[in-house]
Amino acid sequence: MEHPDPAAGPEAPLTELRDQIDAVDQQVMSLLARRLELVSEVGEVKGRHGLPIYAPDRERRMIAARRAEAERRGLPPDLIEDVLRRCMREAYAHEKNLGFSRQAPDLRHIVIVGGAGRMGRLFGRMLGLSGYEVRTLDRDDWDRADELLTDAGMVLVSVPIHDTVEVLHRLPALPEDCLLVDLTSTKGAPVAAMLEVHPGPVLGLHPMFGPDVDNLAKQVVAYVPGRFPDASTWLLEQIRLWGARLHEVSAEDHDHAMGLIQAQRHFATFANGLHLIREDRSLDELLALSSPIYRLELIMIGRLFAQSPELYADIIMASPDNLALIERYHDRFAEALEILRAGDREAFIARFREIGSWFGPHAERFLAESQTLLAHADAQR
Ligand code: NAD
Repeated sequence: MEHPDPAAGPEAPLTELRDQIDAVDQQVMSLLARRLELVSEVGEVKGRHGLPIYAPDRERRMIAARRAEAERRGLPPDLIEDVLRRCMREAYAHEKNLGFSRQAPDLRHIVIVGGAGRMGRLFGRMLGLSGYEVRTLDRDDWDRADELLTDAGMVLVSVPIHDTVEVLHRLPALPEDCLLVDLTSTKGAPVAAMLEVHPGPVLGLHPMFGPDVDNLAKQVVAYVPGRFPDASTWLLEQIRLWGARLHEVSAEDHDHAMGLIQAQRHFATFANGLHLIREDRSLDELLALSSPIYRLELIMIGRLFAQSPELYADIIMASPDNLALIERYHDRFAEALEILRAGDREAFIARFREIGSWFGPHAERFLAESQTLLAHADAQR
């Protein structure tokens, strides 16, 4: 019996087209490799000349130009933007071990109290990449504290939230011109304690990201001026060079905003997790039945429980104001539930519209943004 010739079957043109796609993929990969090389050269030049690794204006102009170009060529602009943004993200990750120009050439050594911890190590690495001499004072190093801190140019406190004030009070007198800084996720009590224990320059920082980031490109760092702001200009400039966006805020406004952004949100996630375990459904089944948005919601809940319970306990319980805020949230939940109990469809719709108009034009924008996010999340499955 004769074997059918595969070259003559319906697969034949497909094989040929697939070969061509393979060849195009090879070209795409060579071009991507070349692009990454060029970007890493840019990173080195930036590092040498003290330019920030994240240049928002250049990025915005570049994306707008490429989108216009894509349209002219009949390509989907969203596809081109996605590819370019992914390339840029990769480039920032590549730049993570590049050096940065040192903004305070004459600064004496830096001591990170809690430097063996997660955020302490991250800041230690960034400061080291910027040419500073960094020393660590961790839990078991207090017998060497005087030796480590004598003549320090900056002391950065990065210990767990509930230990910060106590650790600050434990510090021996620092050199008068030493800059005292903290990274605590709350700002009121730590900044007040820093001003109390040190008569010299003081700055409160709150990095709005965790220790697992590759680099600081596009991350936000909130800062609270404490005393002698001129003495911390170099540090803020240094952080900007690392790619972060800085946002000045008072300790009071910071803590109030964090109540909503962190304490209440994490608490709601915690309560959601508690609800899930009490309902005790199979997680695999929930995942199998999930729409992309519910999957994303489960991801947002589940990721919390892969992290440190101590950190989240501290963030949520950081202040009595957080409890008051969460209690108001609880009251609003009860208020919403009442509408449901009464079966008052009209009231539900009226409230819905009221909330929608509070969000205003953001509601539409958020809908569009979330659709992009969902498309990404779905593509990862
Ligand atoms: P961590 O537990 O990883 O590190 C804390 C370090 O402090 C540890 O090395 C620990 O040994 C040390 N330490 C504890 N008590 C000490 C003491 N008495 N003396 C000296 N060292 C002591 O915590 P982390 O996640 O790195 O958090 C540190 C700070 O950064 C906290 O104030 C937190 O609010 C802030 N922060 C954390 C995050 C985050 O996502 N992890 C984000 C922003 C800000």
